[in-house]
Amino acid sequence: MTDKQLQKLVEQVSLTFFAKPFLHHAYFNRRLKTTGGRYHLESHDIDINPKMDEIDTGTNHDILVGIIKHELCHYHLHLAGFSGKHNTPEFKQLLKAVGGSRYAPNTTIRSQPIKYLYRCNRCGLEYHRKRRIDVSKYVCGRCRGKLQLVTNYRMAN
Ligand SMILES: [Zn+2]
Ligand SMILES: [Zn+2]
Repeated sequence: MTDKQLQKLVEQVSLTFFAKPFLHHAYFNRRLKTTGGRYHLESHDIDINPKMDEIDTGTNHDILVGIIKHELCHYHLHLAGFSGKHNTPEFKQLLKAVGGSRYAPNTTIRSQPIKYLYRCNRCGLEYHRKRRIDVSKYVCGRCRGKLQLVTNYRMAN
């Protein structure tokens, strides 16, 4: 997808889901690494991680549109005089109403470090660790039971 097509898509999503026009610029930004998109408070522009387009193989651009909706929530709330921050009730409500993505999928998750989940064999207490731990050396802090690696996983952000 080109910047021009992205611009059109953002305008279209804005009219369809927010019933308001998007009057600024949307473009792909290769420098975005850990986020799917970004809304600029000063210029009111939106830039989108091109990976969101690349991993989006469906015909409906579900992933991309989810990210666009998210950025448009910032955009329309900000222009309406709200802070548009993630933790405000306005943002949460609007995001839910339009079905926007809370998080950028996949590519960002892949860039997160692996975490390890250990569980105590005796009392079941779980330990989330950034590094592997030597289970022959370390025991459960609560009951001194043996720890077992359950799984490793990546954190979504
Ligand atoms: Zn956001
Ligand atoms: Zn234990």
